[in-house]
Amino acid sequence: MKLSAHQQIFTLNVSMLICFAFENGLRLTFGEAYRTTEQQLLYVQSGKSQTMNSNHLRRLAVDFNVFKDGNLTYKWADLKPLGDYWETLHENNRWGGDWNKNDLKDGFIDTPHFEMNI
Ligand SMILES: [Zn+2]
Repeated sequence: MKLSAHQQIFTLNVSMLICFAFENGLRLTFGEAYRTTEQQLLYVQSGKSQTMNSNHLRRLAVDFNVFKDGNLTYKWADLKPLGDYWETLHENNRWGGDWNKNDLKDGFIDTPHFEMNI
C-alpha cells in the first residue's frame, strides 16, 4: 500500500476521533500534524523529541489540545478514552499515552499524540 493510502486512512480516522471526542464532552483543537525534517531536528536538538523517525514526518501523526469542561487538559486519565477509541479504529493506531498498549501509564508519555504506525 502506498504511503498516500495510509495517510488517507489516518486522516479519516482522525475525523472519527474528533467526532468521538465531541460526543463524549471533550473539545479539541489542532496542535501539530505534519512536521518538516528541519522542525523535527530542532525538537531532537532541544530534547523535545528523541527520534528523527517520528510519524509526524510521514503525515501519520497528530497532536491535539484537549478541553474538558472548558479547561485545557493533557491528563492521562482525561485522554485515555480517546486513546482507547483511537486504537479501535485501526490495528496500526497508537496513542502516545500508551505506546505499548498495556493500558498502564508507564514509559514515555505523550498524551496529545495520536498516530498510525506502519
Ligand atoms: Zn506528536
